[in-house]
Amino acid sequence: MAKTIAKFFLKLSLYAIQLIISNMSDESKNKSSHFRDKLTTVSKEGKRVWVFPKKPKGKLYNYRKLVSASLLILLYVGPFIKYKGDPFFLLNVIERKFIIFGVIFWPQDFHLLVLSIISLLVFIILFTVIFGRIFCGWVCPQTIFMEFVFRQIEYLIEGDYNKQKKLDRQDWTIEKVWKKSLKHIIFYTISFITANTFLAYVIGIDEVFNILSAGPVVYPANFIALIIFSGIFYFIFAFFREQVCTIACPYGRLQGVLLDEKSIVVAYDHKRGEPRGKHNPLEERKKTTKGDCIDCSSCVVVCPTNIDIRNGTQLECINCTACIDACDAVMDRVNKPRGLIRFDSEKGISEGNQTIFNARAIAYSVLLTALLVLVGTLFALRTDFETTILRQRGTLFQEYGEDSYSNIYQLEVVNKTRKEHLVHLKLIHPEGEVIMMGDPIIAEKGEVSNGTFLTVIKLSNLKSSNTTLTFGIYSDDKLIDEYKVSFVGPNSLDKK
Ligand code: SF4
Ligand code: SF4
Repeated sequence: MAKTIAKFFLKLSLYAIQLIISNMSDESKNKSSHFRDKLTTVSKEGKRVWVFPKKPKGKLYNYRKLVSASLLILLYVGPFIKYKGDPFFLLNVIERKFIIFGVIFWPQDFHLLVLSIISLLVFIILFTVIFGRIFCGWVCPQTIFMEFVFRQIEYLIEGDYNKQKKLDRQDWTIEKVWKKSLKHIIFYTISFITANTFLAYVIGIDEVFNILSAGPVVYPANFIALIIFSGIFYFIFAFFREQVCTIACPYGRLQGVLLDEKSIVVAYDHKRGEPRGKHNPLEERKKTTKGDCIDCSSCVVVCPTNIDIRNGTQLECINCTACIDACDAVMDRVNKPRGLIRFDSEKGISEGNQTIFNARAIAYSVLLTALLVLVGTLFALRTDFETTILRQRGTLFQEYGEDSYSNIYQLEVVNKTRKEHLVHLKLIHPEGEVIMMGDPIIAEKGEVSNGTFLTVIKLSNLKSSNTTLTFGIYSDDKLIDEYKVSFVGPNSLDKK
């Protein structure tokens, strides 16, 4: 009996497993037909589908050209801009020295830099929650280099998308070898120049010129690093391309959690566009049951990530707005109002109202305001010098002459200014003498300087075994900082 029951349950389990497997395969069959379950840049065989986007045209594309040109000029000219003898921008991660808009952040200001970066990240998140991924299409260096540098060279040498496709399919003729070689030589040259520009942001333009003029024999490691970095840059823009945005970029992957139905994104107005249908110039579209989309695919052929925006918001969409321009041109041709594809939210399209603020946007705004207040306050309280005075470890007090006691101290001065300072100390309270031990302290620009000194105080000026001293730190007789520290005397002073 037990055996029969066991057999029954075994059969039942096998049947259940079979059912689940068959359901799963049915489900996956259904899903595989769905656009969301495949990458538009990968074929069924798992091979890369090369994207040949049509050169966009239109108002938004012209604005993008202006934005990109300004940012590219800023990038390439940036290392040459100096302020008070230092670079205007420097991101020296090796020595942890950063200059942003002429403001120097020394290693001691690292917390300020970290807080500023966190504020920037929160700002980007807030911006994304409200305005979607517009940063990617308009400001991201990947898109700017891809669409407005490398792709432009490609259009110039190989022609628009149709000619590029044809060239790609044809055999290796002299024309093809010549065009491809020229393109890749220019690509690598730009990559090399750009690698040098990025290096200039790390070590400064003067150092880059030093390395380049001295040659690879003097600086072999730097040259190898430059060649490798140029190679990576070249690989990304010559081969990896839109894959950075669609599969590698963490910001792109975060869109799924950052966007909601109120976020403004590049969106297709499905209510107005559907049911789509081919355009017949002889038929007045208003009188037909068709929607405004004439299914011309103009929005698809310009897309640099090879997606169809009519399928809805997708992770691959970098909000470059090329499809808006393309569709607007089509709408003009068929005498329909522009904006079938436009900046709008899912809610805006389905309900017709555009309220951009929601609970998340308000929460991020509050957080961003708090961070900005904190960073602003820390900036306002930031001083040019940071002083630390500590009693020499392991020492107490010494008798000094007949009526005085002395303590030994260690001084540390951080100079955050752009020049060196000769530093000296005075005892502000109580009356006493400071005797420097060793060389005078020269606080180097951006460096931490140390010194040792003796403080001598008359017995009559000591009220207890632990007296608080106030030191003044001076440079050229100008008080630059004050510091309080304790002075240790004999216990007998407490009984006075
Ligand atoms: S460009 Fe406009 S009309 Fe043409 S397919 Fe795209 S959405 Fe439809
Ligand atoms: S769907 Fe439109 S906005 Fe999105 S990447 Fe393609 S062309 Fe650009």
